[in-house]
Order: sequence, then C-alpha cells, then structure tokens
Amino acid sequence: MGRTATNASRPNMGDRMKIDKYDKIFSQVVREAADWECEICHRSNIRMECSHDRSRRYVLTRYDPRNAICSCSGCHRRTTESADDHVESFRRIKGSEVRQLMRELSNSRGRLKKFEREAIHKHYKRELGRIKALRMNGKVGKIEVEVPEVLL
Ligand SMILES: [Zn+2]
Repeated sequence: MGRTATNASRPNMGDRMKIDKYDKIFSQVVREAADWECEICHRSNIRMECSHDRSRRYVLTRYDPRNAICSCSGCHRRTTESADDHVESFRRIKGSEVRQLMRELSNSRGRLKKFEREAIHKHYKRELGRIKALRMNGKVGKIEVEVPEVLL
C-alpha cells in the first residue's frame, strides 16, 4: 500500500496509518515511562512521540513496549528518514537480542482478536495508573513497562 522501491530500505517510511485507541494509550504509557525524555537525544520539554522499531503495520509488535521508544519529534523524523540512524538508535537502546525477537514476532502469523486488543487496552490503563502513581511519589527516570500477557 503506497510502498515504493525508494522506501523499501526505510522500514517506517510511508506509514500513514490511523492511530487507534490502543495506539493512543500505548503511546502515552511509553512516553510516561520514559519520563517524557527522548531516549535518543535525552532532551525533554519538547514534543515527544512514540517511535516503533518494527512498523505499526505489524500487528503483533504494534503494542509491545520492547518495540517502542519515547522519541522527540526531531529524532523520530530523523530515524524515519534514515535507516542507518534508525537501526543504530534502536540497537543502542533495546539491544540486538530484543530487536531480533521483535523481528521474529512481527513476522509470525497471527492476528489480534477484539478481546485481545481490549485486554491490551486494560493492561495499559493499569500500567499508566501504576507509573503515574510512582511519579506522584517522586520517582524520576525510566520505568520498565510490563508487556501485556496476550503478547507473551
Ligand atoms: Zn530526541
């Protein structure tokens, strides 16, 4: 769909996918867990986005915290436009093993049923509450996000 030879080497180019309510809560959790600091350039107080390693078009890794980072919009754009920057950043932040796991998972057949998406949504609502409570208690810096059970 709109994928050209030009963006074949840029795995996240051409993504003009709709953001659903599951993306929304997932993105919120990823950014809150990173304490609203870009995991690439470490700046904060600027616009933060949720950046995926494997594209959102792969449903089985779309809502997996091992496949996403909090990134400022500048770094997000840069890593979307340059495959080298993308690989370098995700390798550094997530490690090669996690990246390989996400690659395999994303390529495996399988879909998410409605009830599974709902379980994911519930999970992230809980995670958001847990992380925000930790922030209220003064916790700063990165907090690990639990992977939803249906994705394990
Ligand atoms: Zn950045």
